Amino acid sequence: MVQYELPKLSYGYDELEPFIDTQTMKIHHQKHNQSYVDGLNNALVEIGGASHPQYISSILSDLQTIPESSRNKIDFFGGGFENHKLFWETMNPDGGGVPKGKLEDAIDVYFEDFENFKKIFSEKAVNIQGSGWCWLVFNRTFNKIEILTTQNQTSPWTLQKVPLLGLDVWEHAYYLKYQNKRPEYVDAWWNVVNWDYVENRFSEISG
Ligand code: MN
Repeated sequence: MVQYELPKLSYGYDELEPFIDTQTMKIHHQKHNQSYVDGLNNALVEIGGASHPQYISSILSDLQTIPESSRNKIDFFGGGFENHKLFWETMNPDGGGVPKGKLEDAIDVYFEDFENFKKIFSEKAVNIQGSGWCWLVFNRTFNKIEILTTQNQTSPWTLQKVPLLGLDVWEHAYYLKYQNKRPEYVDAWWNVVNWDYVENRFSEISG
């Protein structure tokens, strides 16, 4: 049976300073992320995980096939696992700046320009009620990029959208440094976005 593990970070907890502080990174990764990993593994045991495909994205994309009694757990813990994995990968100490290449072109087509994209994304992130995520996703059906938000740990995969970039706006992601000032956290986060990673992901997925 597949056991999911805490994803490894490619940078140190202190390397996203001053935008995301060391203590927040450490607790977020070691405690919160670990709890989603454990919750997912437990939920998979409940539904006989061995019979399910390896990739959690496949499971999330087809939640209706999960027994109803475990569906919310898979949505929450599976989403929590997948969302955080992408969150860590799409940040980097050398991040920030602007996207290039094909992604830049797509952003210009659907959002006018990068500044406007950033403004819309930030507003949606700030306005999420309670806990959730703001996303840049690829919509395979219509071959386009979109911004969307989800509550709690729900993954865009459950909506048949491919996440390219996600911003965690749970208080655990920012409260120690920014307290209730979510807009300041959102502004700071743009400085660590790993656009190289997001661009590559977009290129691979959109073909
Ligand atoms: Mn989180």
